[in-house]
Amino acid sequence: MSNSNEWMKLDPKDRAIIEKYQKEIPMKLGALAHELGLIVKKSTLPANISGEIKEVDGVVTIRINRHDALNRQRYTLAHEISHFLLHRHLLQAGIQDDVLYRSSLSNVIETEANKLAADILMPLSLIKELLVKHSKGTNKESMYEAVAEEMQVSVTALKIRLEKI
Ligand SMILES: [Zn+2]
Repeated sequence: MSNSNEWMKLDPKDRAIIEKYQKEIPMKLGALAHELGLIVKKSTLPANISGEIKEVDGVVTIRINRHDALNRQRYTLAHEISHFLLHRHLLQAGIQDDVLYRSSLSNVIETEANKLAADILMPLSLIKELLVKHSKGTNKESMYEAVAEEMQVSVTALKIRLEKI
């Protein structure tokens, strides 16, 4: 379990901002986006689209599909924030992510955004704390469910982060 190369490549200023919000669970992703200068809108997007990000006249706007489940919306927001942090040069053309977080861009770009999204949403120190907190008198599956619930992420996302999948 470790942070991604994408995390290590971030501008230290951006990393410091993210770390400030990672001290709270569930982390205030909307406030993080705002501090990074992003506009976030919950929108009715086509059913197969989870989110999009586009820069117009220097203003970067993220749209999240409001019809998705809450945890999914949070993951999508983290994914789009990651595109902003890693792929600034692509934002004027705009990126639209489908339900599998595929876009017209290469899988490499999407994998980078997914890795950073996991690092943002699920900081290792917090996961470790929560695993200990929820480890007593329960089976592993219930433990993962409790930790995921507290972090407001899906169990699948948590298991991928823990390299259990
Ligand atoms: Zn994407």
